[in-house]
Amino acid sequence: MSDIIKLLPDSVANQIAAGEVVQRPASVVKELLENSIDAGATDIKLIVKDAGRTLIQVTDNGKGMSENDARMSFERHATSKIKNASDLWALTTMGFRGEALASIASVARVELKTRSADTPLATEIFMEGSKLETQQQCQAPIGTTIIVKNLFFNTPARRNFLKSDNVEKAHVFNEFIRIALAHPQVAFSYYHNNQLVTQAGTGNLGSRIINLFGSHYKPRLIPIEEDTQIVSIQGYILKPEYAKKRKSDQYFFVNNRFIKSPYLNHAVENGFEELIPDDSYPAFFLFLQIDPAQIDVNVHPTKTEIKFQDEKLIYQIIKAAVKRSLGKFNIVPSLDFERETAFDDVRFDKTKPVVAPTIDVNPNFNPFEQEKSTGSSGKNLTSRANPRQWEKLFPQPGRAASQESQQQNMEPGHYTSQQTIINPDWQESQDKPQGKKFMHLQGRYILTSIKSGLMIIDQQRAHERILFEKHLKMLENRKVASQTLLFPEQIKLTEPDADLLREIRTEIASLGFDISDYSHNSYMINAVPADLADNENLQWIMESILENFKKNNATIKLDTRVNLARSLAKSLSVKTGKPLTTEEMNALTDELFSCEMPYQTPSGKPTLNMLGMDEIGDKFK
Ligand code: ADP
Ligand code: MG
Repeated sequence: MSDIIKLLPDSVANQIAAGEVVQRPASVVKELLENSIDAGATDIKLIVKDAGRTLIQVTDNGKGMSENDARMSFERHATSKIKNASDLWALTTMGFRGEALASIASVARVELKTRSADTPLATEIFMEGSKLETQQQCQAPIGTTIIVKNLFFNTPARRNFLKSDNVEKAHVFNEFIRIALAHPQVAFSYYHNNQLVTQAGTGNLGSRIINLFGSHYKPRLIPIEEDTQIVSIQGYILKPEYAKKRKSDQYFFVNNRFIKSPYLNHAVENGFEELIPDDSYPAFFLFLQIDPAQIDVNVHPTKTEIKFQDEKLIYQIIKAAVKRSLGKFNIVPSLDFERETAFDDVRFDKTKPVVAPTIDVNPNFNPFEQEKSTGSSGKNLTSRANPRQWEKLFPQPGRAASQESQQQNMEPGHYTSQQTIINPDWQESQDKPQGKKFMHLQGRYILTSIKSGLMIIDQQRAHERILFEKHLKMLENRKVASQTLLFPEQIKLTEPDADLLREIRTEIASLGFDISDYSHNSYMINAVPADLADNENLQWIMESILENFKKNNATIKLDTRVNLARSLAKSLSVKTGKPLTTEEMNALTDELFSCEMPYQTPSGKPTLNMLGMDEIGDKFK
């Protein structure tokens, strides 16, 4: 038999490697930005067109490359960053596998223009499908520009696999944000389709966060700083009331490299403990510095996963650090961003012995005390539309429910199925009517006694149901109760959020919002749904509506209107932990029972429960 084994041509080998390294436009953005950082750039410009399908360009003022290096950089395993295996354990650069440029050049048309300080002329290279087309000299400033055109032009399957422009753009934006966050000492600008998306001058982490996310982040941040011999932690966590519905703003960096670690995210969540409701996740920007020999970043080709030698200990340290910052925050509630030194002072003391950080949490700290701004004000609860008299459905002890009213309530069809489940006492009526009595339990449950036992209502879930039905009706009838604001409020959204807002703009308008463009990704809110009129924090409300909308979209494909009504209900509902007056509990209960489907939240969780006399009796056996 003749020999049949052949070495794969480089172009094919590179394309295979590209499958790992270049999954989508965002991967190219990541690799190019990281190369610029590694080249010591202090100013990096990212230009993208059509979500990266047609063009990705990165221009930096880094150290550039020589003529030979420029050509070499496209070879596989060509890297200037490691020379032998032992270097791997002491890596401080972003790249080291020498695969990125070779991979990118195998699936796109690439132009490279680069000049180092020691030559007066730059070199320019054109690559197509791994092949060098031309190389020539040209004029250019010191630094490097790489232009990647028509990504996946020669791999149609991969190109077809790309998602919508908005999705790909969001991925690009995420990569950009991750790198920009990790390098506040580098100035960045990002343009998409000739429009400036973000510009961030040099500064410190605090100013960078505000640059990227908007000045409304200022009052949300709590600094965190912890030094141990194993790991140093610095960065910010967001106040508990700004917890997100998705794990979206969770940024972990290890030695300045963004990483994904559900385990460490959990450590932070654990540090927040009961300060954050079950369905929300804390937001944070945390930077861990750790001896590179203690970690292995090479476990994943795109290098966002990482292995620690002493994972459990790091978990404990992170958790304790979060707790400590939360405790401290109670004493020092606001940050002064004008005083830049507040951020520059973060230093690590390597001489300290390894001690688990002490936990110092103020037991009286109640983040919900500031809840006003995020929930609907109690006032809304007391304005009852036309509540069906729920107490006739579930007679209270000693309170009469006349035959006549029972009759009325037997009629509406929707209750019948539930009646069998919760078995209210229909037939019995009592003599003397009494005022309804409510008890508020743990800032969460409304307790009231009914004829058959005890009714327990979850305040947040109940309110969610009420708001959901209300807003869905508004969307369906286009019957808008809108209120024009005396002072229109400006909000600033991230690129992906702004894209989403543009997508669902008509629906948002039919809820009573009047939103006009202000500048790129900034909007003016001129009018809001009537029950939002006193809300001081429209920025957060809008973020949270969009956040919920995305979350719903990710789990189930909902009709836009239903999704919006759900998102609004979730965002505006009175939160667990909010104290309620008797009047508010009464109104909430009334409104709940005037809903079409009072027993479940829009996502199907129970809003209320009954503890029957029998069940209570059983406990005393
Ligand atoms: P790696 O970054 O893993 O070394 P890459 O394929 O990303 O591999 O890059 C190959 C080499 O090209 C780098 O090691 C570096 O020497 C050079 N290089 C790439 N981009 C730049 C840049 N923007 N400025 C200067 N040198 C660069
Ligand atoms: Mg690289």
